[in-house]
Amino acid sequence: MKDITTDRRSNLIKKNVGDLMREMFSSRISEVISEIIRMADEIGCKAYLVGGFVRDLLMKKPNRDVDIVIEGDGIKFAELFARRVDGRVRTHKRFKTSAVIFSDGFRVDVATAREEYYAHPAALPVVEISSIERDLYRRDFSINAMAICLNGKETSMLYDFFGGQSDLKDHVIRVLHKRSFIDDPTRVFRAVRFEHRLGFRICEPTLLLLESATREKLFEKLSAERLFNEAVLILEEQKPEEALLRMNELGLLKFIHPELCFRVESNQLMNHCKETLVWFELNFPGREVRRWVVMMMALFDSLANDCRDEMLQKFKSAKKMLSCPLVNLAKVEAATAKLHKPVVSPSFVGKAFENLTNEALVFMAAKQTGEGIKALVTSYLTNIKDIRPFINGEDILKMGVSPSPIISNILEQVMEAQLDGKLKSRHEALKLADKLSR
Ligand code: ATP
Repeated sequence: MKDITTDRRSNLIKKNVGDLMREMFSSRISEVISEIIRMADEIGCKAYLVGGFVRDLLMKKPNRDVDIVIEGDGIKFAELFARRVDGRVRTHKRFKTSAVIFSDGFRVDVATAREEYYAHPAALPVVEISSIERDLYRRDFSINAMAICLNGKETSMLYDFFGGQSDLKDHVIRVLHKRSFIDDPTRVFRAVRFEHRLGFRICEPTLLLLESATREKLFEKLSAERLFNEAVLILEEQKPEEALLRMNELGLLKFIHPELCFRVESNQLMNHCKETLVWFELNFPGREVRRWVVMMMALFDSLANDCRDEMLQKFKSAKKMLSCPLVNLAKVEAATAKLHKPVVSPSFVGKAFENLTNEALVFMAAKQTGEGIKALVTSYLTNIKDIRPFINGEDILKMGVSPSPIISNILEQVMEAQLDGKLKSRHEALKLADKLSR
């Protein structure tokens, strides 16, 4: 059993936050929480709001990610709660956690109050049932380690064992004990992420622990998937460039690749990407773009091809996440090389942009300053990409051409003529195809 007073002394400060909850919660959140309270009372267990939801409430920031801890059987609670609200439940038995998903997609995470042990640094934790205090002690930072009791005698009482409120007030990110980064090195990335999201500062003792974890190269033991999940979360933030500059300063990027760095030029490129994302979403509202993919392209843009290959080799188990931005980068580079002509016809643009994802189009427009590429992207998405060909392979077969690559060749030439406005109708397209098939 861990001694929970070794580092950050456990010193419970309680405060009733009922008024704040009433002021801040939407009617939806209030309804959901009332239902949680009824359920907890019926079962006879204690329910707590925890984590980022409590942090954001105290900062008066809206947050819809309701995170509940149950002193008792959290999995049973989640199953009964899901039945009560007509939702579904997804359970992770090993970690004693469940997610209750309502029919409209609203989600409540439910966990059993638990304690975690790490068999070795960076391993996944061994989980044991415990009290709310011990559950909070296993958390990453003091500001994320507060709970609000939802039922019983202490309803609406904030439990702050580790100085979370004072760190919120001082704008400080602080781990709860010396082994925190060793137990779970992803906390290094989380620290940087919260620092920039909230405009806080990692406090000196925590920074020293972080630097020592970096020196000990703990990230090398971290699974590639967990590492890149954290990277994606950073890239999804509003100001990823600030967090990346900080990661560069802390020497964290070299664990991704020794040549990877993030300096002024990458910062500028990322800012262009952000502006271009806004432009894209405004002009093409139905077309989805994954922000993190664009940002990861900006991050890896300055890496040479052989370094990109080495990175893929090293992080094989994160291949799914990594290859998407890397393949996009290669395609953008190929397309950009093709477009170095003074006048480009629509069919030429169609060919150059063929197979480019929305993320690649955004990145390409961001990389080339000026309006040129933006205009081409606009013309591609509005007039070229979704255009339906006047004719298809069946039409060519009916002309007596036997199945062969000649058919796609003819179709391609007819499509080019159609895109360039040389054909006005299906009839004209058939005429051209007939001519080409002779
Ligand atoms: P966000 O607003 O980004 O969702 P969050 O604080 O809610 O931030 P989550 O990743 O959803 O973050 O995690 C919920 C809570 O679980 C955190 O507030 C923290 O208490 C705890 N937690 C998450 N990851 C870790 C970790 N690696 N180590 C310890 N505690 C963690």
